[in-house]
Amino acid sequence: MTSTSEHRPSSVIETIDREERGERLSKEEIVRLLEISSPAETERLYAAADVVRKRCVGDDVFLRGIVEFSNHCRQNCLYCGLRRDNTALVRYRMSDDEILASAYEIRKAGIGTIVLQSGEDPYYDRARLCGLIARIREKIGLVITLSVGERNYEDYRAFREAGADRYLLKHETSSQLLYERIRPGCRLEERLLCLTALRELNYEVGSGVMVGIPGQDIDVLADDIILLEETGIDMLGIGPFIPHPQTPFRDLACGSVELTLKVLAVARIVTRSTNIPATTALRTLDKDARTMALQAGANVIMPDLTPLEYGLFYDIYPGRAKSEVTDMVTLFTILRNDLQGIGRTIGSGAGHRRSSPH
Ligand code: SAM
Ligand code: SF4
Repeated sequence: MTSTSEHRPSSVIETIDREERGERLSKEEIVRLLEISSPAETERLYAAADVVRKRCVGDDVFLRGIVEFSNHCRQNCLYCGLRRDNTALVRYRMSDDEILASAYEIRKAGIGTIVLQSGEDPYYDRARLCGLIARIREKIGLVITLSVGERNYEDYRAFREAGADRYLLKHETSSQLLYERIRPGCRLEERLLCLTALRELNYEVGSGVMVGIPGQDIDVLADDIILLEETGIDMLGIGPFIPHPQTPFRDLACGSVELTLKVLAVARIVTRSTNIPATTALRTLDKDARTMALQAGANVIMPDLTPLEYGLFYDIYPGRAKSEVTDMVTLFTILRNDLQGIGRTIGSGAGHRRSSPH
């Protein structure tokens, strides 16, 4: 008689095979993949995600240089060190010229995309951000990704017209109850409407989840993956929750690296041609996790290129893995060597989402 442990690996493969034939996985199947616990099955899952990654987005790893230009935030998310009630945090804003100087450095290094990230900071109003976007676009020619939180439709439209190409806005969790608990005063419905608006405006849209927030279970994570698939999201950020001492979540445990990698792998299998970063949060918990993520479905790295004097205060969670080096030549040498070791290359060009092979 076949024992359960003997049978289950093939059921994992059968499930993945069905996906490969173009059949959508049911929620139960996604749950089953996320529940895998044996090392052999887990390796099979990562390997299957790696095959899908290779076939759908190739061996190139695209770099996106992040500049965290302001740590002011009007929101009070219970998990984040930038929350407005964290009065212990030294707040900063980079000037337009400082942001442009960082953008020049990114261009000079041959990175094609800048990610402009901040708290929700009304100081950078529509006109100010549009001016900045237009200058980066016209003078430096980078592809621009914004990650500046929720704004209104007219702002999104103006940013797009000024030259922004992509927008990251993680839904964080698909459970309305959890979402509204961890982001006081915010509504999941509103977040999802923002993502719809961004798609309407023809942005490449990024969303994603934090793994390990209190009250989250496998069922919720499966719904997260289904939401990412059904809403046609182009980029997925999947990282573990890490408690920050100046937040109400200070005493909670970190999200699991292994579960985060499983969510990433299943998300790759289900969404196929999306761009998926090996997140900084993963590498903060385990220095080898970047390579592990790249071998479980990820195809993007986002080096943090915020000037050190500011980046130290972009304190979302403790121990945030900063680029070990500040000069680009060394950074590239390290990345190139790491990638070579796993048969991957640094991608050139913008690294837009490829059209789905479906
Ligand atoms: N304010 C914008 C927003 O919330 O979309 C962008 C900046 S926010 C700091 C970027 C991401 O940081 C969030 O989407 C969230 O997933 C992540 N983050 C915040 N606090 C975190 C924590 N304690 N652990 C892990 N990730 C965290
Ligand atoms: Fe602000 Fe974003 Fe942090 Fe929430 S997650 S407190 S919106 S920076």
